[in-house]
Amino acid sequence: MTALPANIDKLSAYLERFRTDGILNLINGTSQPALSGAFFENASPVDESLICQVARGNNDDIDAAARAARDAFPAWRDMPALERKKILNRIADLIVERAEEIAMCECWDTGQALRFMSKAALRGAENFRFFADKVTAARDGQQLQSPTLMNVTTRVPIGPVGVITPWNTPFMLSTWKIAPALAAGCTVVHKPAEFSPLTARILAEIAHESGLPAGVWNLVNGFGEEAGKRLTEHPDIKAIAFVGESSTGSMIMKQGADTLKRVHFELGGKNPVVVFDDADLDRALDAAIFMIYSLNGERCTSSSRLLVQDSIADTFEAKLIERVNNIRVGHPLDPQTEVGPLIHKVHFDKVTSYFDIARKNGATVAAGGERVGDQGWFVRPTLFTNATNDMTIAQEEIFGPVLTAIRFSDEDHALQMANDTQYGLTAYVWTNDLSRALRVTDRLEAGMIWVNSENVRHLPTPFGGVKASGIGRDGGDWSFDFYMEQKHIGFALGQHTIPRLGA
Ligand code: NAD
Repeated sequence: MTALPANIDKLSAYLERFRTDGILNLINGTSQPALSGAFFENASPVDESLICQVARGNNDDIDAAARAARDAFPAWRDMPALERKKILNRIADLIVERAEEIAMCECWDTGQALRFMSKAALRGAENFRFFADKVTAARDGQQLQSPTLMNVTTRVPIGPVGVITPWNTPFMLSTWKIAPALAAGCTVVHKPAEFSPLTARILAEIAHESGLPAGVWNLVNGFGEEAGKRLTEHPDIKAIAFVGESSTGSMIMKQGADTLKRVHFELGGKNPVVVFDDADLDRALDAAIFMIYSLNGERCTSSSRLLVQDSIADTFEAKLIERVNNIRVGHPLDPQTEVGPLIHKVHFDKVTSYFDIARKNGATVAAGGERVGDQGWFVRPTLFTNATNDMTIAQEEIFGPVLTAIRFSDEDHALQMANDTQYGLTAYVWTNDLSRALRVTDRLEAGMIWVNSENVRHLPTPFGGVKASGIGRDGGDWSFDFYMEQKHIGFALGQHTIPRLGA
């Protein structure tokens, strides 16, 4: 759609191996095609060109991977913590060494802009370092003494786990799930999204180069309803960490029921950014724009509903329209690009369908609302105004660079609309009134809330949503709550009275 950026030759060099060999699975330390021999094609959203063939794993590949993860588990669980820590730190080092390759492949595979993906690659390394530092304390517990017993608790890794990831920022999200699992002592079978397999393969290779024993980390590519489904049903897989759509989470829960799977779900969102008239409006504007139009709006935590107070709405929306029309849409490898193409035609069709829905709803398409160019899945950053919270465009997750602006009269009205959605992932509040901030954050139904800030992730804090946005939390020790079992052991302190039956 635009002139090719100068770094395109570098990308070509990085992609060459995928063109030649395709993307193979990595099971028990061995790269292999799908056992059936089947492949599927992976195309770039930038120009719809074929990137490579990808192994299309199914039940047999998942079974082999789960077996490998099961067999590797005891030795990995029992490896001295400091050795595990060393391996995780080495993975982080190698991610940093290959950060450019990871970022460029991610851009080409997903359409995400390089300005964001280069940071995402480095954040992936940070995830490994953060959890490497936590390895030595992973098994720690408490001592809870009673008059007759010394009670101690300890944590043990749950066993082999399945990790299923989406396509929006696949590299970062994979590290976010897999690093704590490994730190806890679990072994892993990873099924990445079929639309974006490149960096999951690079990551698994890095892990093996870092000295991770065979079978500890297994990669199986394939479709959700084939490989993904089998992974969630497999009896040797003790838990599923899933990031994706709410409807898929619901399916996974059903699929995992027979084997009583433990699940951790990070799902969709329709997150409100609430701007009161006493806020720092320039900063609120910057943050609202950043949180919906960065990462192509393909971001679970995006502020996709703007709730703006009546008294400032005209001015705020006018500035918003000007800025949205200025956002640079372009080739994802161009460092100037702010918004790249959407991941795939299927997703492009979904996002663009909301342009008509908005008009039918009676809202105004105040910016964007159209495709850019005729090749690749580019759309203009879009703003809907004159919307009400009951409209489809205010209720459904669009997952693109599309913002719906709704006006409110007072605090109660804002809260009522903010909470009137099936989702509850994040919320953003802009006000300089401290008591109002306290009241509003207390009543907002969301797992994560930022006041006078965009989403700034701090790894020790809990990440996750309420309602249809998820189950469970990631981050800090919360990740270990998921990947580990609590165990209680009571030691008698003396000769306490034991009830004697039949004596
Ligand atoms: P998706 O649910 O379609 O797919 C996610 C993964 O699930 C893919 O790997 C897919 O192959 C797999 N899958 C699909 N059907 C399956 C099944 N029946 N059994 C097992 N696995 C199956 O989601 P997507 O379209 O790839 O990603 C976008 C969604 O992810 C959005 O809703 C977004 O909000 C959400 N998301 C949430 C977070 C969060 O932290 N809450 C983060 C990123 C993305």
